[in-house]
Amino acid sequence: SPFESYMSETGMVLSEISYAKRHLKGWMKKKRVPTPMAQFPASSFTVPEPYGSALILAPWNYPFMLALDVLAGAVAAGNCAVISPSEYAPVTAQLIRKIISDVFPENYIAVADGGVECNQELLRLPFDYIFFTGSPRVGQIVMKDAAEHMTPVTLELGGKSPCIVDKTADIKRAARRIVWGKFLNAGQTCVAPDYVLVQEEVKEPLLRKMKHYIRKMYRDEPLLNPEYPKIINEKHFNRLKKMLLEQDGEIITGGRMDADTLKIEPTLLAGLTGKSKVMQEEIFGPVLPVFAYSDLAEVIRILQKKEKPLALYLFTRNSRVKKTVISKVNFGGGCINDTIIHLSNEKLPFGGAGNSGMGAYHGKHSYETFSREKSIMEKGNWLDIPFRYPPYGKRLPLLKKLLK
Ligand code: NAD
Repeated sequence: SPFESYMSETGMVLSEISYAKRHLKGWMKKKRVPTPMAQFPASSFTVPEPYGSALILAPWNYPFMLALDVLAGAVAAGNCAVISPSEYAPVTAQLIRKIISDVFPENYIAVADGGVECNQELLRLPFDYIFFTGSPRVGQIVMKDAAEHMTPVTLELGGKSPCIVDKTADIKRAARRIVWGKFLNAGQTCVAPDYVLVQEEVKEPLLRKMKHYIRKMYRDEPLLNPEYPKIINEKHFNRLKKMLLEQDGEIITGGRMDADTLKIEPTLLAGLTGKSKVMQEEIFGPVLPVFAYSDLAEVIRILQKKEKPLALYLFTRNSRVKKTVISKVNFGGGCINDTIIHLSNEKLPFGGAGNSGMGAYHGKHSYETFSREKSIMEKGNWLDIPFRYPPYGKRLPLLKKLLK
């Protein structure tokens, strides 16, 4: 969809670049920090310095944004970079190669061939920083390889992001915003709500409203709707098809697919046991299982036992519920009463926790990710208190008094 790709790819990259250009001068400034009296006369400050050469490994979903948004931060912070776009989005990879080779000399910013073998070769090289976006499985490989050269990493990974709807929520708004966030890019979004946990009392109205909005947004025949995206390739289409065939619940709406166009209808599932494949791995497609719960404490217990998700969404009007969920569940980031849009605020650091990643970026956080703070203390020469120089004589008791 041209609209979706501008909103979530091109537009995001352009606004990230303009934001960095507007703020870069301020970010680059050295920062003064106080100095302990004992070091008098001295001043202390930090200056950011680039890591050096950064390796940026990008996934296939949002293949433009997840390569170039990251690059904007790397360049702003003063690094050289090699970008490896995903082999699953070859046309975008070609486009990235064209833009980069038109704009930058290759010894400054280069585009690698992409693909697993190429990445494996790249990961053997002593880069100064590695920024990886992709699955937790490959994230582990990247971190192991990075350890060989003590290279710091940012890992932007995925996982199953829950969406909780309690009985006080504005059900109409919740349904509309969940449907939008889930079926954007046909569910192939790392922060898409993976499954919904809805309080029993409002389950039926929520399902009804979500069904209504799916129809309103994607029309009667989503498979024929040119604005509704396809699945990236046959492998992922078949993975999702298998997931749907083996699910043990009921299809509330959707479920049809077209192997020729690789499209799968926006699909709502209910009545699942939680044992089928849909709940064993990140769905990453237009399938949304909905589970009912009666007690929030039970939901929190379940979430605390699971891997820490990249995102969590909570629909409620109850402030106690907001506070409880935020303080008791670990997750990368999220929204209250919306989905996905926390990404659009470049002032918010974006990243995962535990299995969903480490480190964060966007706006100033990207600049900070790609630079390290170099600490400097500058001493004055007009005075040199002799206390620290040998012979120490009887100074130990005084030292003990000073350093406690
Ligand atoms: P992936 O992990 O399969 O691939 C990511 C990159 O790693 C690709 O460029 C691929 O070529 C490379 N790769 C694959 N196997 C490799 C290996 N053995 N050694 C070295 N490199 C290898 O992920 P994907 O399927 O492209 O993307 C989907 C995953 O990415 C999902 O889990 C999703 O949640 C996650 N994701 C996270 C974010 C985020 O910002 N946190 C954004 C988008 C996608």
